[in-house]
Amino acid sequence: TANTDTLVGEVLLAEPRGFCAGVDRAIEIVERALTKFGAPIYVRHEIVHNTYVVNDLKAKGAIFIEDLAEVPPGATLVFSAHGVSQAVRREAAERGFSVFDATCPLVNKVHIEVAKLAKEGYEFIMIGHKGHPEVEGTMGQLNEGIYLVEDVADVAAVRPRGTKLAVVTQTTLSVDDAAEILAEVKRCFPEVREPKQQDICYATQNRQDAVKVLAPTVDLVIVVGSPTSSNSNRLRELAQRLGTTAFMIDAASDLQQQWLDDARRDGQPLRVGLTAGASAPDILVQQVIARLKALGAGAVRKMEGVKETVHFPLPLGLGDKSMAEL
Ligand code: SF4
Repeated sequence: TANTDTLVGEVLLAEPRGFCAGVDRAIEIVERALTKFGAPIYVRHEIVHNTYVVNDLKAKGAIFIEDLAEVPPGATLVFSAHGVSQAVRREAAERGFSVFDATCPLVNKVHIEVAKLAKEGYEFIMIGHKGHPEVEGTMGQLNEGIYLVEDVADVAAVRPRGTKLAVVTQTTLSVDDAAEILAEVKRCFPEVREPKQQDICYATQNRQDAVKVLAPTVDLVIVVGSPTSSNSNRLRELAQRLGTTAFMIDAASDLQQQWLDDARRDGQPLRVGLTAGASAPDILVQQVIARLKALGAGAVRKMEGVKETVHFPLPLGLGDKSMAEL
């Protein structure tokens, strides 16, 4: 019979994992706005795609909305890390809200590139997932001339009107899928202009690289992340593609002992790999570790990985100086 004392042997932590600089900044913006202006602070869309983060900010007085019509006149409004379309930006200005923009600077960089090249007469192929707010925001930088492709099969159906075509991507895609789709874009449109630096962000790249190192060395990979989190879903998918069983959980309580029992084929204690998406806070990782320890895990070991030093400044009016003035 299975003895839970020895169900889990070692836990290996992917490095890096969890919060990226854009998520850190976005949450900080809401927290500082709450401190400076008091509750309620309205936030358009989940500030980042994480249940714990959203509930925590709700408890502190943030109100999450999708439609700006739900926001009362004169309110303070924060745009989520995923960015917004020009239409949303215009509507917020027309309604006179006091806006703080938590759009990740790396998403904003893509928006600026789209606007600049559109002025030069470019149309765009955007590689991304339909319905994701970042895709809506980036596509919504233009009224027309930007075509979404979700997979290789979509590419051949794109019919640009002109000859100048550029490609942009969502920041949180599977690096491998994006490369494959981009190759097809170049095959169909050899003259296409590529981003100088790829749009997939450093955090997405690093977390996927870490799973590529981690997954082959463990029996099971657990990804901490919410179902809506694009980059977290990609981490689970990646581990599975590498042949390792993987699950994504929103909280430690989602972890099912059955998964561990099923993964243990030879009666040896399991090696469990643990990572977290860019929007998942470390407290959740710690809670999962505690749960794994309760199931017998002894050693918790960090993998080798790149050290991230990226940091984004806060917007004017919420930076350190204005906090000191409070
Ligand atoms: Fe910015 Fe990348 Fe983090 Fe998204 S995942 S918020 S693009 S750093």
